Amino acid sequence: MLNIVIFGAPGSGKGTQSEKLIEKYGLYHISTGDLLRKEIKAGSELGKIADSYISKGQLLPDSLIIDLLAKLLDTTPETRQGVIFDGFPRTIPQAEALDTMLAERGTAVSAVIGLEVDEAELIDRLLKRGQVSGRSDDNLETIKKRLDVYHTQTTPLRDYYVENGKYKAIHGMGSVDTIFVSITEALADCK
Ligand code: ADP
Repeated sequence: MLNIVIFGAPGSGKGTQSEKLIEKYGLYHISTGDLLRKEIKAGSELGKIADSYISKGQLLPDSLIIDLLAKLLDTTPETRQGVIFDGFPRTIPQAEALDTMLAERGTAVSAVIGLEVDEAELIDRLLKRGQVSGRSDDNLETIKKRLDVYHTQTTPLRDYYVENGKYKAIHGMGSVDTIFVSITEALADCK
């Protein structure tokens, strides 16, 4: 069973490549960003809390996200066929919690796909997305904050996954299809 973490800065193409991975490997997609945006739209309690962090470009507290994930894994039988985690984990405590959650369910992270993209290109992509996405966080000020948060809180995870041998660095610039070919090659020896 494949459990893939797709990892990279905001704008690195995680959502786009996730869609292609789902199609090829039949994985269940868990995007924490999409889940939170749904809660915001529904006006739930969690949505109200999420909105206050997301619109400032900050991460939600680990405990909230970890609970959300644990509930989802428990209530969604399809996740037992393999999952693509998109936007989670984003901190070391989240990565440790994911390892524990999967171990309790008799499985583990198979590989971490790290999409590596230049900073200028990231900003360019996010500003372009902002013109159509309607997302409250796709504006220059919040984009800069998100990249800052990514560098301080999320990049340490790269070392975490390099050390346990799961990190696969992927050059995330160029066409969507070329990047996808590199990903499938990197996953060729994973189960
Ligand atoms: P992107 O990677 O393009 O910034 P996402 O849709 O993955 O977008 O996330 C949007 C926002 O949702 C983040 O900036 C953060 O506020 C919140 N969020 C998503 N996933 C997490 C997470 N695992 N931990 C904490 N906050 C999260």
